[in-house]
Amino acid sequence: MSNPIIRRVELSIPGTMGFGNAYAIVNGERAALIDTGMASAQNVDALQTQLGKWGHTFGSLDKVVCTHFHPDHCGLSRQFQDAGTDVFLSSTDAAALEFWQQSASVDRRMATFYGEHPLPSNFSSSVLPSFSFLRSLQEEFHPCILGSDGSLVDLAGIPFEVIETPGHTDGHVCLLQREMNVLITGDHVLPNTIVNIAFGQQSRFDSALSQYMQSLRRLALLGPLDVYPGHGIPFKNLATRCLDLLQQHRQKVQQVLDALTLKPVGAFELSCLVFGEKRRPFSKWLNMAQTISCLEYLALQQQASCLQKGNMLYYMRVE
Ligand SMILES: [Zn+2]
Repeated sequence: MSNPIIRRVELSIPGTMGFGNAYAIVNGERAALIDTGMASAQNVDALQTQLGKWGHTFGSLDKVVCTHFHPDHCGLSRQFQDAGTDVFLSSTDAAALEFWQQSASVDRRMATFYGEHPLPSNFSSSVLPSFSFLRSLQEEFHPCILGSDGSLVDLAGIPFEVIETPGHTDGHVCLLQREMNVLITGDHVLPNTIVNIAFGQQSRFDSALSQYMQSLRRLALLGPLDVYPGHGIPFKNLATRCLDLLQQHRQKVQQVLDALTLKPVGAFELSCLVFGEKRRPFSKWLNMAQTISCLEYLALQQQASCLQKGNMLYYMRVE
């Protein structure tokens, strides 16, 4: 290895004050990229300028690896593919991406949480514009498939180990470089925020939150690595942050459990009770998703039960 360098490129998230990170691994003449940011002219400009400083273009990279299929992590992938650079995603998230790319009718199903949860009548129409907006920030592309857990992926001549970390999405991965003491964490471990956890049909019987927490425990055992997160500034000591996040998620689960009674209640009603009723429709949607992930976790732990009335799901505390 000839002094490889990890460079952070800050990329904007349109419509918010937030930003996301792409990381370039620069090793002599070679370079690779982890995550691309959302599709916007501003982000194309930022990436072209930064890569240009290191003597690279979209087409000269070894490859791009995306930690997961969300638009703020792989939205610009198409531009790299069109320039001749392969973009890799885990097989699970490649399938999730294909589902998401199928058509806008997917948005309607997601807005109604697959029609399984009782919602206020105007809810889905109020949240749909947020999905269209997100859709506009991701150009359609067809990823190459990343190796599974434990396999090595070569990034500019440096071997990184793929660590599958399901939870935030079912196919989320982190990338480990032990000799450099580095873990690239995508959205699995962030410095300042607690991430949303996947929910839905796949995860109902195999709680995504439970998988997320297992992934955190596993990462905590890797020790005091330097963390390169998908949002925020890189920081030290992975294990401490993992334990901290575990504690915060346990608290959220406890809040949901405390609000449950023996009277069946829908997830939306419960999310307003626990997290307050948000003004922005997409914040309501995220809170609802968070509540469902806690309920699925509690059901798996046999502390809550889920019952179906008609086509709808309701939850109650287990006596
Ligand atoms: Zn994400």
